[in-house]
Amino acid sequence: MGNRIHLLSEQTINQIAAGEVIENPASVVKELIENGVDAGATHIRVEILSGGFQWIKISDDGSGMSPDEAVLSLQRHATSKIQNADDLFSLTTMGFRGEALASIAAISKMTLLTALERAPAIRLEIEGGKTIEAGPDARARGTSIEVRSLFYNVPARKKFQKSAAASSAEITKVVTQLALAHPEVGFEFVQQNQVQFNLPPSSRELLKNRAAVLLGEEYVHSLHALEMNGAWGWVGDPLHSRHNRSGQYLFINSRPVFCPAVSFAVRDAYGTRLGADRHPIYLLHLSIPPEFLDVNVHPQKREVRLREERIVKQLLHTAVNDALFPREPLPAPMLANVSLSFTAPDFSAPLLLQEEQEETPLQELPLIMEIEPIGLYRHYLFVDAERVPSRFSCEGPGVVWFDLPAVESRLQFERLLKNSQKVQSQGLLIPLTLSYSRAEAEQLRGHFEIFHSFGLQIREIGQSVFLIDAIPPALEEQEVSIVLEEMIRELKTTDLKRKWALCICRRVRARKKSYHLREASHLIKELAQAEDPWHCPQGKKTLFYLREEDIENSFQKQPIKATADSFEKAKA
Ligand code: ADP
Ligand code: MG
Repeated sequence: MGNRIHLLSEQTINQIAAGEVIENPASVVKELIENGVDAGATHIRVEILSGGFQWIKISDDGSGMSPDEAVLSLQRHATSKIQNADDLFSLTTMGFRGEALASIAAISKMTLLTALERAPAIRLEIEGGKTIEAGPDARARGTSIEVRSLFYNVPARKKFQKSAAASSAEITKVVTQLALAHPEVGFEFVQQNQVQFNLPPSSRELLKNRAAVLLGEEYVHSLHALEMNGAWGWVGDPLHSRHNRSGQYLFINSRPVFCPAVSFAVRDAYGTRLGADRHPIYLLHLSIPPEFLDVNVHPQKREVRLREERIVKQLLHTAVNDALFPREPLPAPMLANVSLSFTAPDFSAPLLLQEEQEETPLQELPLIMEIEPIGLYRHYLFVDAERVPSRFSCEGPGVVWFDLPAVESRLQFERLLKNSQKVQSQGLLIPLTLSYSRAEAEQLRGHFEIFHSFGLQIREIGQSVFLIDAIPPALEEQEVSIVLEEMIRELKTTDLKRKWALCICRRVRARKKSYHLREASHLIKELAQAEDPWHCPQGKKTLFYLREEDIENSFQKQPIKATADSFEKAKA
């Protein structure tokens, strides 16, 4: 029998190891970009053909390598980044296992061209891990690596690869993530000889511009800056939440990672401002000391665990809240009344009648500014009439009641009409299928273009059966069928855009959610800027002003039936 015990050949070992590190073309791109970042590059260029299966080239202007180093870099466990296992805990580089180059080389045809500053370059041609040619060449400082015919010698792996299109998409995702992880590095991405983006070296402050290119204007439009010890970035306002986590970009110590604790903490900070199945969007960079991290050393897994989850969660909770609803300086007269019993000098709050749901530690009480709500009753906010923006023209003392869903619906309506040229839609994880009667289907069919222009991606997949795979962000998944039904009835009207906005706003109004004081105050401030702050799009009132004299009148003497006698009885 042939199954005698024997040592595997070096090449087979490398191919097996390669399987762990290199799953697909996107992992090649990731590893090579990270090497460029580690080498201190200021510019990294990524070029691909056919989803990377045919050709990948990554060039950087980093430190480069000497000819000896270049030869060594292809060996497994060759790394310049750690000396021993202890170094793992103070890691500042992206790579450290010394496996990527060896792995990629083992399963492709590779060209490595590299040079140190003002030094001759070396070119190495490698096939299936074997160097078949090595010689001098010329190039400026830096490294470029070409990877051709990936998986050509591991057909079993090749069989399980996705299509070129899917692979391209995955590579785009990787380049996007790494470009967001390393603002200081310039990134150029070329696909099928077409430049997809060319981002100059930037900075933390300007990362938002980069995000606008990579994730879209709409994405950055709704972001609020977040900045605190160890965390910086942006979180999206609740109205721009999504059905899935696709809008969440998290970087811990500059690595794109998935960290359930962080994801949970951020979601938690939104509280009831988000519906149960909604996910906030965010772009967050955290610096967490290595001793607080369980860096998973499995090469592909990007999941990170936190050791002191509670602390990080608490910090994030505060940071997200502050970002969404910034504390503002207390107006002067109020300061005089604030008792000094609060230890933290810049945190203090007027007395709140009712802060709902969560127990908020004292220093975290929201600081409410010019609009100083008295409190919340269900979905109504009541505010001292002398403290509401003058826009609402409430003259004289009294109380103003705001109907918050009506307010939100008004704000959403104006936003929809204003942004209607820029269609936005949000992909559904699981597309919806809806079936209609023949007549309704007939109606729908003729209006696909209009629906698309609203951000609703709909197509017919069978007789009167429609598939919807993307919807406008303002809409929740379970509301789609209701809105569509309403729209079918309205399709004959002329001003469809307006009708569409109305349908959505009706849903917003109907949503049963609870509010927080800080969020409510922000809504009111935004309302003060609205074109018509007094009505929801359906014409109902958003606010109701109760004058002090009306309140007093309600307490006017009524004829009292009770006698002195019954009063005595009650006392006894
Ligand atoms: P690791 O990054 O884990 O150390 P790699 O296999 O990715 O392992 O790279 C091996 C070594 O080759 C690195 O430690 C580094 O010294 C060198 N190297 C790889 N890519 C580059 C590059 N683009 N520029 C400079 N040196 C590089
Ligand atoms: Mg590496």
